[in-house]
Amino acid sequence: MLSQLRDIVEHVSKAEEVHSALEILVKQTCAAMNTECCTIYLADEKKQRLELMATQGLRFTGHTIHIGFDEGLVGLVKRTAEPINLAEAAKHPSFKFFPQLGEDIYHSFLGTPIIHRKQVLGVLVIQQKSSRQFDEMEESFLVTLAAQVAVIIAHATAQGQSFFDGDRVSVIKGIPASSGVAIGPLWWDNTQPDLSQVFPASTLDILREQELLSLAIENALADFKRMRKKLDLELNKDALAIFDLFTHLLNDPMLRKDLKAQIAKGDRADWALRQVVESYANRFAKMSDIYLRERAQDIKELGQRLLFFLQNTEQPVHNFEQPVILVVQELTASILASIPKEQLLAVVSLDGAANSHAAILSRAMGIPAIMGVNINPELISGKVGIVDGYSGEIYPDPSQDLLSEYSELVSEESELSAMVDKTVSEEACTLDGHRIQVMLNAGLSADTSISVNQYVDGVGLYRTEIAFLTQQKFPSEEEQLHQYTSVLNAYPDKKVVMRTLDIGGDKALPYLPIDEDNPFLGWRGIRFTLDHPDIFLIQLRSMLKASLGLDNLSILLPMVSSVQELDGAMELIEQALAEVQQLHPDIKRPALGVMIEVPSMLYLIPFIADKVDFVSVGTNDLTQYLLAVDRNNAQVADIYETLHPSVLAAMKHIFATCQTYNLPVCICGELAGDPIGALLLVGLGYDMLSMNTSNVAKVKYILRQTSYQELQDLAHRALSKPYGSDIYSQMQQFFELKGLAGFIRAGKR
Ligand code: PEP
Ligand code: MG
Repeated sequence: MLSQLRDIVEHVSKAEEVHSALEILVKQTCAAMNTECCTIYLADEKKQRLELMATQGLRFTGHTIHIGFDEGLVGLVKRTAEPINLAEAAKHPSFKFFPQLGEDIYHSFLGTPIIHRKQVLGVLVIQQKSSRQFDEMEESFLVTLAAQVAVIIAHATAQGQSFFDGDRVSVIKGIPASSGVAIGPLWWDNTQPDLSQVFPASTLDILREQELLSLAIENALADFKRMRKKLDLELNKDALAIFDLFTHLLNDPMLRKDLKAQIAKGDRADWALRQVVESYANRFAKMSDIYLRERAQDIKELGQRLLFFLQNTEQPVHNFEQPVILVVQELTASILASIPKEQLLAVVSLDGAANSHAAILSRAMGIPAIMGVNINPELISGKVGIVDGYSGEIYPDPSQDLLSEYSELVSEESELSAMVDKTVSEEACTLDGHRIQVMLNAGLSADTSISVNQYVDGVGLYRTEIAFLTQQKFPSEEEQLHQYTSVLNAYPDKKVVMRTLDIGGDKALPYLPIDEDNPFLGWRGIRFTLDHPDIFLIQLRSMLKASLGLDNLSILLPMVSSVQELDGAMELIEQALAEVQQLHPDIKRPALGVMIEVPSMLYLIPFIADKVDFVSVGTNDLTQYLLAVDRNNAQVADIYETLHPSVLAAMKHIFATCQTYNLPVCICGELAGDPIGALLLVGLGYDMLSMNTSNVAKVKYILRQTSYQELQDLAHRALSKPYGSDIYSQMQQFFELKGLAGFIRAGKR
């Protein structure tokens, strides 16, 4: 039976279009179950009825057949979400005779719900003329089949397939990557060269292919330089870093060597390119750190760009008559750079994720973006659509009502950001004079040239691991010194918290592979650096030397889960300090902090309070470990609740304990930069929040509109709620009351 099941699912999924898939399904199910009739009904929630989509065996009359959710056995299966198995269907109290259905010849009935993520999408029914009681095996076969059909239907719906007459393709969901709302024509651009469409090809003229490749590399380098220059005035270094990364990679002797070696084997340049790019990208794709995993995308983009120059493709001239919502297979920094900003209302990318460089770039450019959209682009191209970059929703064919609702949002939105940007230089101080320190989370660079960054109270989290992961070897003490000096120099009068290396496990360095079953519970953060004092000491010495004369360095230790680990790290810090002071006696001992991101630390604060100068709460990992839910797994994304009552309770506990021990505490997880999170955290007592550049102006503004008193009251009430959704609703009401609703997810209200 298992192989029959597999066959059915395989045939059904291969069908080009969903209606024919359902036809195949009913036919093959009859054959596999040796029964005379199989019918599939899908639920139209709007009209509260089930519509017959395909049947083998029913000789119904009329165009369509609907069964109300409250009618007959099929309606009962939908309502109860449970199978019904009857030898004599007509004897069941819920049986209803539908003359137009032509089912009077059938006696037995087995109906099972088609459920996807708790929702009953429809009902799958088999019937037989004789009064046959289907056995347990048959019942479980149908249940299994229905579960597989549910996935196919959910997938088709997500792709924008509409099942019911007159039904609009209502909404398509993707990953929100850059906030903002846009309305305009959707325009599908399929002119980009596609590396995945390059197939094996060999050459006899190896020299010529090598030359073609070198030329393509030169052209690409010149092109990146041009694009970078074009955007230089508009964007900050973080966003532009993609072009530096491309340039760096293209100049990387290793990549060039690998490409050449592949061509030397006799492969044509484009085929060699695909193989080498894919092997590099796969290395990144295996990492579970979302940031690093998404670097795979950058490498693929680089490959696409090289392919473009290899194939000498005509540069498509994008000259739209009116601004468009651009739909592409894979959004690249190059696409964004090549289209005038005024012509881009928003971007929708079928591939990609929220932290790919193209996404970072679209955020920096202020263009709403949705990534990872599962859709057939031909179906929506040319239609007027709405893109909601807050919720990741696309409405390809919106109703008039929705259009006017969103038009209002679009204008509110631009007023809001203009207002917020104007006041970014003002301090974050509540109406009743409570001052909050707003710090910066920095990654690629901690650039001060972005105006927002000049108005922060310091850097609350500088993630040092990036340089380690993008190189072919551990960066030398000299290289690290150079990097840290430039960051500390950028904030000479402000505190800069540098976190020591947070890699390990799945975040494997290309030059130090680690293979683990449970990487998030494995060899990462401080566990790795304590096992590698050699690497740790180099990093510590570089940081300490970089602080000479600036004295603005604080050191933060990631993933600490015990006091022993802290003691071990402190010994090494002492050793590094003694070493650097031999040469530079003026180097000062930096402030030392520990990340509170493993739940065990909640109970260890009393033991570490007199050893460290501060703690910093990593709500991203703390939420993950507290709720036992992988922060990168889309399957359980709805369980990763940032406002979960236990997260809030933990935050309360941490603050209270820190207060008892007079220990300064900062929050550097994403919660601090989230408008709702920021208000709740301040209400709980926290007065140091560290966040990404894009949230600074917003959070400062919101804090200035509220009083500490009311935030304390809000936090107090939130702590009494058993559901995260209750906390969200309470906060939503507050934002509406204060006229701040535009700051939390615009979306459809
Ligand atoms: C955190 O876990 O909240 C944090 C700030 O660290 P990262 O996101 O780098 O793991
Ligand atoms: Mg963390």
